[in-house]
Amino acid sequence: MLSSILESDIELVAKNADQVDYFIIGSGTAGVTAGLELAAAGFNVVIIEAGPFITANHIGTSPFRSQSEIVPKIHSLVKYDTSWVQEECYGCRETTPLVPNNTAWSLVGGRTVFWGGCAPRFNKEDFADWPFSYEEFEPYYRQAESLMHVSGSSPDRPHFISSEWQDAAMARLNKAGFSAVHAPVGVDTERVANGHISFGFDSSVARLLRSKSLVQFGEKQGLSLVANTAVTSLEAAGDTISKLHLLNLQSKKQYEIKPKNVILACGGVQSTRLVLASGIEQDSDVVGKYISDHLFVQGLMRLREPIGVPLYILLKATEKLPYQVQIQGAFEADWYSPYHSTVWLDYQKDGTNVLFYCFGVGSVEKKNRVALLDEGECARGGASKYCVIYDHSKEDKQLIQRMIDGMPAVAEALNADVVRVKENPPGSALHEIGGLRMGTDPATSITDPDGRFWRYKNLYCHDSSTWRYQGAANPYLTITACSLRLARKLIEAKQPSLARS
Ligand SMILES: Cc1cc2nc3c(=O)[nH]c(=O)nc-3n(C[C@H](O)[C@H](O)[C@H](O)COP(=O)(O)OP(=O)(O)OC[C@H]3O[C@@H](n4cnc5c(N)ncnc54)[C@H](O)[C@@H]3O)c2cc1C
Repeated sequence: MLSSILESDIELVAKNADQVDYFIIGSGTAGVTAGLELAAAGFNVVIIEAGPFITANHIGTSPFRSQSEIVPKIHSLVKYDTSWVQEECYGCRETTPLVPNNTAWSLVGGRTVFWGGCAPRFNKEDFADWPFSYEEFEPYYRQAESLMHVSGSSPDRPHFISSEWQDAAMARLNKAGFSAVHAPVGVDTERVANGHISFGFDSSVARLLRSKSLVQFGEKQGLSLVANTAVTSLEAAGDTISKLHLLNLQSKKQYEIKPKNVILACGGVQSTRLVLASGIEQDSDVVGKYISDHLFVQGLMRLREPIGVPLYILLKATEKLPYQVQIQGAFEADWYSPYHSTVWLDYQKDGTNVLFYCFGVGSVEKKNRVALLDEGECARGGASKYCVIYDHSKEDKQLIQRMIDGMPAVAEALNADVVRVKENPPGSALHEIGGLRMGTDPATSITDPDGRFWRYKNLYCHDSSTWRYQGAANPYLTITACSLRLARKLIEAKQPSLARS
């Protein structure tokens, strides 16, 4: 029912596409951040989202947040299987079919409806291989932290979880050579007073719905949302994207749209898959390549005695420690699942289980790539017809072992013991990068430093597919800040056509 007020009619949009300045594909943080900026600057923007509208807020800010049985069922409504496979397995796929080992999500808000909330910045040196510096980027970090209400990032927003016990534990960790900080999370901790009610977890769907820019298409200038509709391919004529091919996943009707400008915000891997499926960069030597994800080790520690307060510490990566560790507790749950990533809210006074997640910086290799698959049904406009071919490098394997070996020292500083530790498969960190890498040389990159495709004057990418490298920090904040930066570049470069008319 709410959909009938919040969404726009694809028929109407398709018929009046000439009134749209920007079509954005995908409604996660990359898409919504750019869409809201562009709409506020006077452009007419339409977001096309393959998934359905199922919730107006992040799951952790909803009544379901502690429903460990219901939350996974909500995921099941909108998730689908994907595969990250080794080159060797890919070579044998005729005789040994690929087994799905990862998950993707498709809904209004994308994965921002379910994310765990950890929102640190990259370190300065993580930008070494990017075509712009940390210094240039820093103001966008500040603005993204403000619009996501990241806790601890301003005096008005205290840390979400802090205590004297946590201060003392951090001091012990720092003395032991780690770089311990209160975890910055995308949860609004501004005081509830004088008309301010906490926004809870940041989610692009909530930001979109709160915005005064959201309009139904044709009503007035602003940002409109078309859900349940996949862009199945982009068609090029010369240096221009001349058509978008769309499929409404409910009615199964197909549409063609002549866009003025197109922004890809389908999420890491999916933007790349769409470009590959469209065949618009066929003769490029780099398209689809240099895919990476964080090396992911997770585990369980047990406190030797209950601490009586919640705990959420982040060990930041340093030159000596090229990985980040999130430490959360204490609760009954003894293992992390992406299908209930807000389990850390359910602190128990007498609990002793502490979960930890280590994200290591993976090496970025050209041979790690997205490959389209022919087999399988064309559900979700083709979204699942791919696999990622990915092999760990020697350095990756060494770092994974270092992460595993390093945890007992962390546990000791917390007066705890490591009871279980496991390396998760490639792709499961859900922090994918690459495929459409940015750069300053068109021969070795797909987009310029401002996310515009070298070959197409009206095509841009705003998600982590353009990234050449990532630090150990979780990516959501950096995706948001990047999308903000790119939207500002567009606003500087172009005049809104509707504002003029
Ligand atoms: C359980 C979980 C926990 C996480 N925890 C954290 C965390 O603590 N910290 C952190 O930084 N990150 C975390 N992440 C990762 C984070 O959520 C993602 O990095 C972020 O949401 C990516 O945003 P995005 O806008 O690039 O893409 P997405 O959020 O993936 O959104 C992309 C959208 O595009 C749509 N789309 C794709 N293709 C098409 C098409 N062809 N046509 C139309 N629509 C299309 C998809 O349906 C999707 O809704 C977590 C993710 C999950 C799932």
